[in-house]
Amino acid sequence: MYDLIIEDATIVTADTKHTVIESGLVLISEGVILGVYDTKNPICGDLEAKVRLNASGKLLMPGIINMHCHAADSLFRGLVENLALEDWLSKVWIAEKNILTPETTYLGSVLGLAENLLAGVTTVMDMFWYPDRTAQAAKDLGLRIATGGIFFDPPGVGERGHADYKKEATDFFIKHSADDFVFPMVMPHGTYTVSPKNLKEAKQLCDHYGGLFSTHAAETQTEQSDIKNRYGKSVVRHLHDLKILGPNTSLAHCVHVDTTEINLIVDSGTAVVHNPVSNLKLGSGIPPIGRFVESGALVTLGTDGAISGNDLDMWMALRLAATLPKGYEMRPNIIDAKEALHMFTLNGAKALGKESLIGSIEVGKKADLILVNAQTIHSTPMFDPITHLVYSTSKSDVTDVFVEGLRIVENGVCTTLNLENFLSQVRSMTSDIKMSLNG
Ligand SMILES: [Zn+2]
Repeated sequence: MYDLIIEDATIVTADTKHTVIESGLVLISEGVILGVYDTKNPICGDLEAKVRLNASGKLLMPGIINMHCHAADSLFRGLVENLALEDWLSKVWIAEKNILTPETTYLGSVLGLAENLLAGVTTVMDMFWYPDRTAQAAKDLGLRIATGGIFFDPPGVGERGHADYKKEATDFFIKHSADDFVFPMVMPHGTYTVSPKNLKEAKQLCDHYGGLFSTHAAETQTEQSDIKNRYGKSVVRHLHDLKILGPNTSLAHCVHVDTTEINLIVDSGTAVVHNPVSNLKLGSGIPPIGRFVESGALVTLGTDGAISGNDLDMWMALRLAATLPKGYEMRPNIIDAKEALHMFTLNGAKALGKESLIGSIEVGKKADLILVNAQTIHSTPMFDPITHLVYSTSKSDVTDVFVEGLRIVENGVCTTLNLENFLSQVRSMTSDIKMSLNG
């Protein structure tokens, strides 16, 4: 007797062979996928489960992995507009300092993570000021999170210094050492806000605890010239010389990179996190994603925070990731839908070192699954489910989300959140947030 059978769905496994089963079923017990079958297989007649979910007319795919987010920044959505990154950040940090406490960070994290979850995201990599509060928000909602201690040299939120950040990062590793729902990391903000010495210390701490490392890198031309002025080399060369690149490291953005830097990233096994909406809206530029893909880089996708991109829509990120390289290089075959779908799923799992657990629908992996309505006007007729997911699907098409076999979004409603109560709590902060730039 299985816990759950999801049947009669079109299954887009996102495995390495890009297997699609036109009508199939998935067997789940104790949160793990125990079988994936075509419904024509005779074995399907004898299966029994506590719950059977008929998913005919829907696509079943693995949960989405958002590899760069600042979920709690959703509190500030739309507050700072039409500025380049550096001027924009100077305002953002004022607003954050005036509003953020561990308590408001928790509320903001729920806000941003729930938006992710309702769109089908089951794992989020999040960088923020009080990562323990963000991890708690993820646990309460029921999704997986990769996060950990931030490092930031200028005066930041909560008047903390490097020693405080180091202690918090250490405490985070100790608290979350063996947890399938929290993947512990260190998250220095960037090379322009963290000194070489402190970056190295963050990396040593990360390696000591066997964690992951992520930072913003090569996002703008201004950042590149700042780092060249300070250290006589570009951002990625600087990170390489500090021995920070490697398979446990992911770099958010990589918009302004030359061929040598692309090779340093590829050769070291460092993951790239492409955040197209944020890069476009802040006028940062368009990263050479086609060249990264052709060079064999591990390219993943992120939303960045809703304070820069104004929403946390991984489907928009997916569509831009699949189309921008074609226009940028004027080569429509530079990337295909299958590669883009992997950026959205399996590549994120690889970058997290969790490929054996998540990222595709395969026997033995965790049952992190989503259902997508395929009976809409924009999905009829459908010839190829993968091109449909990449070029035509919207977040509103996601109907159900399962994490480790638990249905935490059911027919578009999050079952782990009292939405009305929660939103009224957030609404009560509106005037304070609006005034926060003046403080
Ligand atoms: Zn960011």
